Formats: sequence, C-alpha cells, structure tokens
Amino acid sequence: MNTFTTDGHTRLAALLGSPVSHSVSPLMHNEAFRLLGLNCIYMCFDVTPDKLKQVTDAMRTMNVLGFNLTMPDKIPMYSLCDEVSDAARLTGAVNTVVNENGKLIGHNTDGTGYVMAMRDAGFDITGKKMILLGAGGAASSIAVQCALDGAETLDIYNRPGKNYDKISEISEKLNRETGCRVEVHDINDRETLYKNIKNADLLTNATPVGMAPDEDRCILDDSAPLDSHIFVSDIIYNPRETLLMKMSRKHGCRTANGMYMLLYQGAEAFRLWTGQDMPVDAVKKKYFS
Ligand code: NAP
Repeated sequence: MNTFTTDGHTRLAALLGSPVSHSVSPLMHNEAFRLLGLNCIYMCFDVTPDKLKQVTDAMRTMNVLGFNLTMPDKIPMYSLCDEVSDAARLTGAVNTVVNENGKLIGHNTDGTGYVMAMRDAGFDITGKKMILLGAGGAASSIAVQCALDGAETLDIYNRPGKNYDKISEISEKLNRETGCRVEVHDINDRETLYKNIKNADLLTNATPVGMAPDEDRCILDDSAPLDSHIFVSDIIYNPRETLLMKMSRKHGCRTANGMYMLLYQGAEAFRLWTGQDMPVDAVKKKYFS
C-alpha cells in the first residue's frame, strides 16, 4: 500500500499507456519521492492512443510534473509535444514528458536507461563496436542513444520488413549526425553476423526471443563465434538469465539482463522531472533484486 500523505501542493507524475496495471514504475518513483521527501505522487492511467490528446491536454491544464508513456502511446505522443529531445526526434518516440509551465517537452529515456545500465555493469559504450539484434521500439532507442553517446560502430540485424526500413532511415540520420558508423543487415545473413561478432565488443539482444514463456528459445545458435572479450546483454528481464546469456556465459562472456535498463530509464525520467538523482541503490534493493 502507498503510505503517502498528499496535500494541496502535491504534484502528479503519471504513466499513460494500455495496459499499465503491471507496471513497476509507480513503485520505483513513489519510493524515490518518499526517500527524497518530495511532495509528488506517481499514478498509472490506462489511456489508448485515441484518448491521448484529450488526456495530455488535461495534464497540461492540471500542471502535472510530467508523465511517462508506454505502449501503444510512445509514437502518438511524439506529435503532441511542443519540443522534443534529440533522442526523441531521432527515434520518433517519446517515453517521458516534462511539463515546463504548460510546455510539453518530449524525451526518450529508454536508450539512456540502457547506456546507464551498461555503465552500472562496468561497460562504457564510448569507442566500442556494437551489434544490435532487433529493430523495434526498444532497439531504436538503444541504437540512437549508443550512437549519440560515442559508440564507434553499430551493426543492426533484423528481418526485412517495416522495422528494418524504419531503422534504416534512423541509421541514415545517425550516420549524418553522429560520429558512429551505422549499418543495417538482414538477420538471416548469418555469415555476415558471425564475421561481425568476432570483432564486436558488445552484442545486444533487443528482440523478445527467449522471453518467458519461450525461455528455451535463443536468437543465436550454438555455432555463433562468441568469445570472452564480448559483453553480451539481453534487454529481456523475464527470465533473469536468458538462454542467450547462459550460452554466452559458457563462452566466458560477461552478461547483463534488462532489469537495470528498466530502472535507469525511470531514473533518467525522475531526474528530468525533479532535477534530482533517483536514489537508485535503495530503489534497486527494494524492487530490483
Ligand atoms: P517490438 O517493437 O515489437 O520489436 C521487436 C523486435 O524483435 C522487432 O525488430 C522484431 O523483428 C524482432 N523479433 C521478434 N521476433 C523475432 C524472431 N523470432 N526472430 C528475429 N527477430 C524477431 O518490441 P520492443 O518494444 O522493441 O521490445 C523488444 C523486447 O525488449 C521485449 O522482450 C521487451 O520485453 C524488451 N524490452 C525491455 C525493456 C527494458 O527496460 N529492459 C524495455 C523495452 C522492451 P521484425 O521487425 O522482423 O518483426
């Protein structure tokens, strides 16, 4: 149960999406507000895209602190913002909105969350060669942030189709606007993928392959040339150790799951709203261990 006392000064932060009832965001943000003594409360609202404009207008009118967006509202929110960050512009998706006196500023903290989680795991993306499997919402955010944060190369693998075309457009922009060399490949071209893996510093799975209840599935097969110099990260957090991570660990690779990406995307939103750092160690201990 929430033990907050609210009063006439309490500011609202919220999660909009559908569904939202499973979200861990209220737990982490309300704990952080409580620990820092901030008079704010975080709540979830089930909002489908057809209601998003109406709800965001109300958020503006009610002078809320800000809000998060989850599926399916991240892309529709983009065109409802007054201004957007570089990461939001490059991905075309918004997961965090800061209300600056009625002006809605859109951010995308999913990629920042990923980079911060990797730093927490002892891996700095700067100057590194990265392979990214997947080209959906999460992969796009990760690709954009890693390129903005100084990855040297980024090779993205996906099946041909809508997401492939979309990430190809994003990669053209990243090649123009950042120092990162970005290429998109067909994930079925295993020869190129395996050649790439040999030179990579980081391999990231941003597909749902291996997620519960399909825990016996893996995006790579046994013949993938994994080696102990590669850090393998899987943004899936259920199960905590995917088959890809198990396989990589057997090859001596360092591995990480997606738990802390979830935590740090929230920590970055919290910082944008409050100007204060989320007490991540305490929040981690309570909800992410
Ligand atoms: P999404 O937008 O639906 O994208 C899924 C991507 O995975 C697409 O590129 C899709 O390829 C690819 N894919 C799906 N099945 C595949 C298969 N059998 N073989 C090869 N590629 C396949 O989903 P998302 O929102 O990006 O989420 C992806 C995963 O990340 C999910 O497991 C989600 O739970 C996790 N996630 C974690 C966090 C976190 O904080 N840790 C945050 C967001 C998401 P096609 O384009 O060919 O369909």
